Amino acid sequence: MSADPWFVVTSACTACGACLRTCHLRCLRINPPGISPPVRILDDVCDGCGECAEVCPAEAIYPIQEVLRATHGT
Ligand code: SF4
Ligand code: SF4
Repeated sequence: MSADPWFVVTSACTACGACLRTCHLRCLRINPPGISPPVRILDDVCDGCGECAEVCPAEAIYPIQEVLRATHGT
């Protein structure tokens, strides 16, 4: 497990499933229809490798620390 898991940006994700097929730890899940975000990362399992972000056609996955900096200025 990494101290810096990655995060799915809700507005960009199209639920295509590419990240789920790529993750070597199988730690992404598709949420039921109508639930936001459409895909979630199990952050207690994610090791922060970034493979999912590389294959995401929507560029919807970012390191959680980067998301926190963008949203909270930390
Ligand atoms: S690859 Fe990107 S767009 Fe596709 S389900 Fe994963 S996060 Fe969403
Ligand atoms: S960063 Fe790596 S371990 Fe974490 S969800 Fe993406 S592919 Fe899986």
